[in-house]
Amino acid sequence: MKYYSTNKQSPKVNFKEATIRGQAPDRGLYFPENIPQIGKNFFQQIEKYPDEEIALRVIKPYVGDSIPDEELFSIVKETVNFPIPLVKVNENIFSLELFHGPTLAFKDIGARFMSRCLGYFLKGQDKEVTVLVATSGDTGGAVANGFYDVKGVKVVILYPSGKVSAVQEKQLTTLGKNIHALEIEGTFDDCQQMVKQAFTDEQINTQLFLTSANSINVARWLPQQFYYFFAYKQWPDKNNPPVISVPSGNFGNICAGILAKQSGLPVEHFIAACNVNDVVTKYLQTSNFKPQTAKPTLSNAMDVGNPSNFIRILEIFHHRFPDLKKNLSSLSITDEETMATIKEVDEKYNYLLDPHGAVGYLALNKYLKEHSGKKARLSDRQGIFLETAHPVKFPESVEKITGRKIDIPQSLDSIMKNEKKSMKMKAGYYLLKEYLLK
Ligand SMILES: *Cc1c(COP(=O)(O)O)cnc(C)c1O
Repeated sequence: MKYYSTNKQSPKVNFKEATIRGQAPDRGLYFPENIPQIGKNFFQQIEKYPDEEIALRVIKPYVGDSIPDEELFSIVKETVNFPIPLVKVNENIFSLELFHGPTLAFKDIGARFMSRCLGYFLKGQDKEVTVLVATSGDTGGAVANGFYDVKGVKVVILYPSGKVSAVQEKQLTTLGKNIHALEIEGTFDDCQQMVKQAFTDEQINTQLFLTSANSINVARWLPQQFYYFFAYKQWPDKNNPPVISVPSGNFGNICAGILAKQSGLPVEHFIAACNVNDVVTKYLQTSNFKPQTAKPTLSNAMDVGNPSNFIRILEIFHHRFPDLKKNLSSLSITDEETMATIKEVDEKYNYLLDPHGAVGYLALNKYLKEHSGKKARLSDRQGIFLETAHPVKFPESVEKITGRKIDIPQSLDSIMKNEKKSMKMKAGYYLLKEYLLK
């Protein structure tokens, strides 16, 4: 498999090079030259296959000969070695729980896969790769955990001081070894800006080998397809494929789902569930893509004003607006609605949502109601939302809404007792540069 750059000004590369580079030299995103097809037979038998075999079948064509089968199978097996259950919330709505991994958010899957691929590519080489990443919360923890102790990789995480939750901060500052946390006295945008500048700094790039670990990297983006297949495996009514609602920020997750559908996975329709950061919701109404400055919300991992993966969704549909609209709808949900949804679903169905999942749930519920007229097909009346994080990651808001304490999982309990190790830094690129070069 070859990958081309969405800006079309860089040479095509294989999976290995795309993973090591992260972004194409022309600043475009790497995109697969073709979308591999999976036949109907496979889906008719899907219940018979263990998760790791499904994952291998999905990812193998994308990896090509960059990683031998046996090695790839063990990478995939480690990536999905925790449960990803589809849980029925009520008659119409199912929750795909993506929060059973080590850092309790879906980003574990992409981060675990990418770190193991990079570790494989660097084996036996003497050069060290520096993974540089800015986080508004969940990415940092998942990347820290995924890359912890991977030989040949040094991880530098920038996060805004005082603006991530207590759990999130502990997850990215307590590991030590090859994981370095920089606590930036500024906003997430400052962190992001510093990281972006490092990637374009020639002096840095001649002395260090830098790569990114956000969903721009194909090795983090592509494995996110896995759990859409696992959802279908557990879907009770195979003849009526589900509508799937995805809480979206940078649009990497939903883009992976749409890619899975294009390769044959039965899905009725996709919903991009957004908070008030509604660039895509507006785009689908007006066909005018207008980036905004991000507004802070309760679902902070989705506070993105210019979603970087949306270009890949356009690429899937060859930039044809009608094809896009046929497959994708988008709804924007306010914080008030998010809070009301957490409360209602807790009281009515005894199911505790996190703020991101709540956005996904409500967007799905609204969509299903709009499509439940007499002539509605069964498939338009049942759906899945992705529960992207465990509510315990956001106790500040969830406990206030429900009036109850959330039980802390044991794995988190021990992390919370560990000592935070971070280096404070003022916002400003030259300080980061000095740090990286020393
Ligand atoms: C990152 C994140 C999202 C948004 O995912 P994208 O792939 O950026 O659209 C949603 N929910 C949670 C909990 C996240 O951490």
